[in-house]
Amino acid sequence: MTLTVQPHRETLGLKDGRLLIGGEFREADETWTHHHPATGEEIGSFAVASVQDVDAAVRAARKAFDEGTWPRSRAGERIKVLRRYGDLLREHSDELRGLQALDNGVPLSFGQIYATSVGIAADIFDHHAGWIDKVGGQTLPPYQGGDHLAMTFREPVGVVAAILPWNAPFVLFAQKLAPALAAGCTVVVKPSEYASFCVIRMVELLIEAGLPEGVVNLVTGPGNPTGEALITHPGVDKISFTGSRTVGRRIVEASAGTMKRVSLELGGKSPAIVFSDAPNVGLAAMTCMGMVTMGLSGQACVAHTRALVQRDAQDEFISMAQMLATAVTFGDPFDPAVLASPLINGKQLERVLGYIERGQEEGARLVTGGTRLEGDYASGNFVAPTIFADASNDMAIARDEIFGPVLTIVPFDDEEEAVRIANDTEYGLGAGVYTNDVRRAFRVSKALRVGMVGVNGFQLEPHIPFGGYKQSGLGREGGQSAYEAYTELKTVMMPLTDEMM
Ligand code: NAD
Repeated sequence: MTLTVQPHRETLGLKDGRLLIGGEFREADETWTHHHPATGEEIGSFAVASVQDVDAAVRAARKAFDEGTWPRSRAGERIKVLRRYGDLLREHSDELRGLQALDNGVPLSFGQIYATSVGIAADIFDHHAGWIDKVGGQTLPPYQGGDHLAMTFREPVGVVAAILPWNAPFVLFAQKLAPALAAGCTVVVKPSEYASFCVIRMVELLIEAGLPEGVVNLVTGPGNPTGEALITHPGVDKISFTGSRTVGRRIVEASAGTMKRVSLELGGKSPAIVFSDAPNVGLAAMTCMGMVTMGLSGQACVAHTRALVQRDAQDEFISMAQMLATAVTFGDPFDPAVLASPLINGKQLERVLGYIERGQEEGARLVTGGTRLEGDYASGNFVAPTIFADASNDMAIARDEIFGPVLTIVPFDDEEEAVRIANDTEYGLGAGVYTNDVRRAFRVSKALRVGMVGVNGFQLEPHIPFGGYKQSGLGREGGQSAYEAYTELKTVMMPLTDEMM
């Protein structure tokens, strides 16, 4: 049986994708044809925004910011639009999950897991709508001298370029657009060329929710020319980016010219430290293996891809991870029994297979997997869930973000060694600590140089700050600090007597 997703195009009413500039949906001179990662089939095409199209989109956002009503609107108006949008997302949840399955091949089953669902995207809009009438400035007492007032105000940062990766479009669209719009900014959003159709629909729904013209603009297309035109445009005040470290570095460079504000959510090589006194070593193994195989097949920034396992818990951990590897199902993403995705494209497939080869050359023990799936799956980019044991932390499979279904297990003897290995990385996104000892859990959590630690489990929620230390990024998404990242802080001082002058 050959896999096909073609019938779903019609069921979902998939249309060719257009740009949205200043309230008008437009075609572009060039288009991009999207091929499905599970089947290789042509799915549809969308506009590739040229340098001129991006310029028009930024100008529209600039005009809406400098002259429009949205940045000057009352809190109540913005709250209403954002809440209406949250409701619209919930109403269109099935449609959006279907479009995502056509885009990046993420199975419908995974689109139902809260952390990557349309539901969490809706909740993120509700969450940020809640800040609009609550985040303000301060009044500060005089430090010395005469009587005076000092006040701070939070004002929207301006035109935001929101650039998205392909792997979790619902939640990442919301993590950027919800705080930006709540703060009163205007936006040019660029989805990944590997997950555009669902984002195009999310933008259409924003218009339906009642956003004024030019407040949100959409430019589709690849990193070059579309992304480059956006990050180098002088009319952009802030870039909010989620994606690879390589592109993150390029964004830091490109932003220097006009000193754009930058938020970066980049990659990781997150460790899970499993002590032999963990409440359930088997469950810890299933959680790690689940993160690198189920759903996104390890194409997740925060997946615990490096399992540091205390030596006497190795056997139990490996056998449970191996058992989970056999439970992963692949195939048609619309089949509710399918649990894992293909890799996003041929380049990523080659890259992952290259790391698997390198792991073997460097002397790690291949426990299971390591190959591409053949037969019915041969036209898709499927790789079998792969486990390496007896690895050391200097091997490429323990250092680099592979972004595929590969779990690397590194043994350790004591707490001090575990923390040292865990911190021996250029990344600092997340970590897991599995232990029954509460004091150890806090000790280790404090010692880890990462943005997020899960003790005996991990959950992503709208109000929880998300982001990384070191080369995993700059800033946080989620919660009050994320809202504030889309504002500038202005100080106004006023002497009340002549004494201070
Ligand atoms: P990517 O960096 O290849 O692409 C991300 C986006 O940047 C895409 O929209 C792409 O078109 C655009 N882009 C590429 N070159 C550009 C350029 N020169 N200028 C402007 N834009 C450009 O990443 P990806 O493959 O889509 O996603 C995978 C990466 O994202 C992984 O490294 C993963 O860890 C990271 N990620 C991080 C988080 C997080 O929250 N920390 C979440 C999801 C994914």
